Amino acid sequence: MFFKRVLIANRGEIARRIIRTCQRLGIETVAVYSEADAEMPFVKEATIAVCVGPAQAKKSYLDIDNIIQAAKETNADAIHPGYGFLSENATFVRRCEEEGITFIGPTAKSIELMGSKLEARSQMQKAGVPVVPGSEGRLNSIEEAVSLAEEIGYPLMLKASAGGGGIGMQLVHNADELSRAFDSTKQKAESFFGDGDLFLEKWISNPRHIEVQIAADKQGNVIHLFERECSVQRRNQKVVEESPSPYLDEKRREELLQTAIRGVQHIEYTNVGTMEFIFDGEKNFYFLEMNTRLQVEHPVTEEITGLDLVELQLQLAAGERLPFQQQNITKNGHSIECRLYAEDPNTYFPSPGTIKRLVLPENARLDFAIEEGSQVSPFYDPMIGKIIVHGEDRNQAIEKMKEALEQLKVEGITTNLLLLYDIMENVSFKKGEYTTKFLDEFQKQRK
Ligand code: ADP
Ligand code: ADP
Ligand code: MG
Repeated sequence: MFFKRVLIANRGEIARRIIRTCQRLGIETVAVYSEADAEMPFVKEATIAVCVGPAQAKKSYLDIDNIIQAAKETNADAIHPGYGFLSENATFVRRCEEEGITFIGPTAKSIELMGSKLEARSQMQKAGVPVVPGSEGRLNSIEEAVSLAEEIGYPLMLKASAGGGGIGMQLVHNADELSRAFDSTKQKAESFFGDGDLFLEKWISNPRHIEVQIAADKQGNVIHLFERECSVQRRNQKVVEESPSPYLDEKRREELLQTAIRGVQHIEYTNVGTMEFIFDGEKNFYFLEMNTRLQVEHPVTEEITGLDLVELQLQLAAGERLPFQQQNITKNGHSIECRLYAEDPNTYFPSPGTIKRLVLPENARLDFAIEEGSQVSPFYDPMIGKIIVHGEDRNQAIEKMKEALEQLKVEGITTNLLLLYDIMENVSFKKGEYTTKFLDEFQKQRK
């Protein structure tokens, strides 16, 4: 096999997900964990586990020195970063290179390029990929922002160039709102991402978020693995994802997929990645950003293509050629994923605590972070698991999801389980007619 021992610089469901593939391939795994996570399933399932610090992510999962030390102590020959944490940190990738450890992902240069939304927009324009109309380069002052905003036209999204996870963007309707939002958004961007660069983007009023999964080898071959529809969102973060998108006909789909490939070829990207696009009401699409890592919602792509994206990441990181050509990849049926959050579904406040009882459905793929007795820690992202189903068509997938959600029981903490079920029953969702506004509007009706 390509690697003997892989360290997973992450936690929760994605750490377990990566362990599963490694076990199947006969690769040993090293889990790193914080003191708060000592009893979590991923720690027990890895071949070796190393504590890398206290609960605060900054002192454990985000501490590059500690992670590298753990990799050296355990003789890991590669590091898989999962998503979030260090997965899009170019400094970390360079450290891996210096230490002779393979980073399972793209190059530091690609991460840097795409980590800046400003730089990414400019690269994509060069590649002939349409971007959301907006400002070029960073905004240097409120005055400059206001004057550019007049040119582009309100409403606008004021965005942090380094933003992620739905954080660091603010919708503004006029010069007054823009002036007031400018400093606070900049500060937020600085404190969250260490980079206060801002830019403006035209606000797309009834948009759909549709993204393209791509894979590229170091020999220059690029393929797509179809699209994912991710328009069911709360606070600009995804809650339900599916593939294929019910919004696209075959012609538009092909245009989107080929555009994504063109963008990826232009930046000479390697490994797996996701090109995110926003669609307006007329089916025009614009590049939003690229995520240079495995995505939370990658399972729906695996379900319709039959591929294992973690295995593909390992192969590509080891320098192997893409093991198949575009024409050999076909999509089959329909897949839906629901994200189970430990949170109040109305306020979105996290709900940490102990899982007192957990009953799992039998008809679904379950990528879960927790088991009965697990502690949901307040220190990390409140997503505790994903329920994934596959059906012959979209209706069958929805029915399977409803069944799975009915069987699933989580006691001890508050979750969004009922909300997920209600989404599956919603008429607009069932018809496939929904935009990124859907969930907010639906929540208002439910109350
Ligand atoms: P995806 O499209 O894969 O859902 P998200 O942008 O929602 O991507 O982020 C994936 C995960 O990474 C989420 O769990 C989110 O909380 C986390 N994440 C994203 N950006 C950051 C960040 N800058 N700092 C910490 N966590 C982040
Ligand atoms: P992040 O890095 O936080 O994932 P994105 O740029 O990918 O940020 O945007 C996240 C979500 O925010 C999108 O899926 C969409 O719902 C919303 N959004 C972003 N930009 C716009 C825009 N210009 N107009 C309307 N909605 C937007
Ligand atoms: Mg995004």
